[in-house]
Amino acid sequence: MSILDFKEIPMAHKGGGEQDKFELFSRDFFQNIGYRISSAPGRGADGGKDLILTEVRKGIASNTEVRWLVSCKHKAHSGSSVSKTDEPEISDSLKAHNCTGFIGFYSTLPSSGLVDKVEGMAEIEHQFFDSSKIEQALLTNSKCLELAKRYFPKSFKNWTDENPKPAVIFSDHEPFRCHHCDTILDYNSWGKYEETENGLVKKIRNQYVCCGGDCDRILAKRYYTDGYSDAWTDLKDYFTPTIYIKAVMSFCNELNDEKIIYSQEAFEQKKSLLIRAYPYICRNLTQKESAQVMDLGMVPQFLGGLG
Ligand SMILES: [Zn+2]
Repeated sequence: MSILDFKEIPMAHKGGGEQDKFELFSRDFFQNIGYRISSAPGRGADGGKDLILTEVRKGIASNTEVRWLVSCKHKAHSGSSVSKTDEPEISDSLKAHNCTGFIGFYSTLPSSGLVDKVEGMAEIEHQFFDSSKIEQALLTNSKCLELAKRYFPKSFKNWTDENPKPAVIFSDHEPFRCHHCDTILDYNSWGKYEETENGLVKKIRNQYVCCGGDCDRILAKRYYTDGYSDAWTDLKDYFTPTIYIKAVMSFCNELNDEKIIYSQEAFEQKKSLLIRAYPYICRNLTQKESAQVMDLGMVPQFLGGLG
């Protein structure tokens, strides 16, 4: 199921002076992923709407420049693939523009006939960007997220509502890492904490987050000793605003309860968990608030300033 609906970009204009939005999108896209724009789409005398890119490949002795000709085809509204007949003159166009690489930039898919034809042209390099490859680049490259928002406002909003991203609150965003293997944990990973009751006093020795499965078992074996038992919760729960504040409140209550004792390690781990989860339940700062935070010198090295 695709996330971005390419039909949000209007159909190509038939003739006329206005540039097609899909071509402008392709220009912005390639610029964002690191190509230099040598010739932007425009309406030349030949009705040309070509985008020419330069890629600089760094070598040891010198750099090499590769010129790419981009062909944009926006067929999302009809849903049909881009066929051989849609790209009749690839070789001639490449020669005319002094390019050695061909890029098909399509809001649907290239047909297998077209792929075969281009793959058969041994003298040129080629790449195809179909809708899912474009989508993947847009949503996984932080430089492209703004573009996704600009060209796909509806789909982007739906996606961000369903996949909350941490707000920009601190100067560094420190991800959750597994206590055993150090892997960065994603939104759906496990959080686990361990505690035991000793007579009337509950001692909390350790509160760590970890991957499920093997890491979980290894850590349980390591810490599940001396009468300590473990309990766990989904890390994801801490990203829910109401559950987050409940966790903060119960931590406050525990600190005020003489029958509950946190070890120094568990205390630091709990603080770290709450601070790392905070951006997920928070909104971005406004510009005014950012300036205020700067003024107050509240731009902590991660965790340092908030201890
Ligand atoms: Zn792990």
